[in-house]
Amino acid sequence: MSFDPIARTVGFKPGERNVFLHILTACNLSCRHCYINPEQHGNITLPQETVHRWLRLFRQPDKETNLILLGGEPTMHPDLATIIRDAKAMDYRVTVDSNGYLFHNLLDAVTPKELDYLSFSLDGPTPEVNDPIRGQGVFAICTSNLQKAIASGFTCSLIYTVSGLNIEALHKMPALLEQWGVKRFFIQVIGLRGKPAVETAGENIDWQVDPHKWLEIVPRVATDAASRGIHVIYPKVYLDSGEVFECAGNVAENYFVFPNGRVYQCPLCEDHAIHSYMIEDDQLVHLQGLNEQRFFSLSIPEGCVMNKLLQPENISYNQDGTPTHRISCCLLKQEMRPNN
Ligand code: SF4
Ligand code: SF4
Repeated sequence: MSFDPIARTVGFKPGERNVFLHILTACNLSCRHCYINPEQHGNITLPQETVHRWLRLFRQPDKETNLILLGGEPTMHPDLATIIRDAKAMDYRVTVDSNGYLFHNLLDAVTPKELDYLSFSLDGPTPEVNDPIRGQGVFAICTSNLQKAIASGFTCSLIYTVSGLNIEALHKMPALLEQWGVKRFFIQVIGLRGKPAVETAGENIDWQVDPHKWLEIVPRVATDAASRGIHVIYPKVYLDSGEVFECAGNVAENYFVFPNGRVYQCPLCEDHAIHSYMIEDDQLVHLQGLNEQRFFSLSIPEGCVMNKLLQPENISYNQDGTPTHRISCCLLKQEMRPNN
């Protein structure tokens, strides 16, 4: 079957709430682009009772809330199945983002009805592309467990983090996703935080993708995937002229929660102690002083202020000093839906 894709910018939906809850920071892998920063996020595994109290803290019965359970590797948490059931009982829409190893027999421990989405992270269509980024043997295990999950009836997504190391292979993904039966395809862009910002700084790795390459490749691949019946979501990154810049920190409700109690509203800020909130004694405390919120209202020609401060490499300028592209909020998404 073929589908006529429909493209649109998703924007920040009024009333949408997303809680990205890192239940631990430990992981069995050590991907080269890992954004987890133990110095900033600690190395705690949240006890299940604490997760329960924090889920109650973020629950708003009158609003639908998406809960994304993350790590580290969330399936390493011995109580993940209980946490998923607990969250469903509080009416969260629950997603687990896994590296594909599915520890503690997750597929047997919960049913497809108890988990809205199971997401797998894969950064290449072959072991030759994926494994140098995510680790030796990871492609085989991740894709085998992905296919097992789909065969068991779970609704599965795949997350592909695009960087200079794998953008040329992105076009091979849609056919594979169709073959495997993946329903949603998230294309993400590498951010210079965590390891890419620190540990590999001296290695001269070309992580960033230039605007022309991104604009030439990503929409084309998204169209291909959507024409195969897959819902594709990818960051806008570069605003078209005339498009309005908006910072999600001002207009959306996103909470990026770490096991040490830090709560950010902007993922670009996660490497710095400029979080907006702190969970103290199971209460969400709004922090005063210099924090990320001070930056959300600043207006600059380059678009996102944090991008300009933290990863200015991805901004280029015309001869008259104006930026060639404005950078959108990293949380602004485009989507390409199959028209069926
Ligand atoms: S799977 Fe995720 S948390 Fe683990 S090393 Fe890779 S990027 Fe980091
Ligand atoms: S990425 Fe930029 S625009 Fe988006 S929330 Fe952060 S500071 Fe605001």
